[in-house]
Amino acid sequence: MIKETNNVKVHIESFDPEIDDNSKVLILGTMPSKESLNKGEYYANPRNQFWPIISSVLGINPELPYPERRTLLIKSGIALWDVLASCERPDSSDSKITNEVANNFKELFEDYKSIRYVFFNGTNAAGFFKKHVAIELPFPSGIILPSTSPAHTITLEKKVAAWSIIKDCIACPKCGSDMVVPIIYGMPNHEAFEEETRGEIRLGGCCVGPDDPAFACNSCDHEWGTLENCKWLG
Ligand SMILES: [Zn+2]
Repeated sequence: MIKETNNVKVHIESFDPEIDDNSKVLILGTMPSKESLNKGEYYANPRNQFWPIISSVLGINPELPYPERRTLLIKSGIALWDVLASCERPDSSDSKITNEVANNFKELFEDYKSIRYVFFNGTNAAGFFKKHVAIELPFPSGIILPSTSPAHTITLEKKVAAWSIIKDCIACPKCGSDMVVPIIYGMPNHEAFEEETRGEIRLGGCCVGPDDPAFACNSCDHEWGTLENCKWLG
């Protein structure tokens, strides 16, 4: 929704989340672009690399009509939302955002308890989350992925390499099962033991080395992936 208040300041409001009861991964942008707001679609700017990256990582054809892409994404366990509910912004530039109000994440996480991994699409989204959302994300949530915005100019290959972590979270590369859990290292607390008993995490021992796997399959026991090079919400 866009309301023109004058030539410069535009009050904008983001969309409802694209999510369902099986969503495991939540990807958070900052605020939809002008093109997205006009079309009512997440990542509608053709220069934004979100859908091409999703295509490389998950094989969802970026040429499909938006409703089909969105459905396939949700079916694969990935939800979309933005950190901000509303703000004023003269164009699509995150750096010019003022008067921002964050979405209600407390309510979202209460309504959708299957969400296990929260990723930020770029440092601006992470920055607004840190500034306005007083929620501590459970490990291994809070990874900042390189922004899919054309303004972030590292190569598409580098972005795809970083974004491939999403695939590691949602499906076992050996058997294809979606019964994937994170392996948690370090001294476990009482809560961690309970989570392991419920099959929600796997405890990996006190020390973690660069070659230790980050994910485990509850179906075939395969372990894989690394969080070694990830950038985290501080
Ligand atoms: Zn497996």
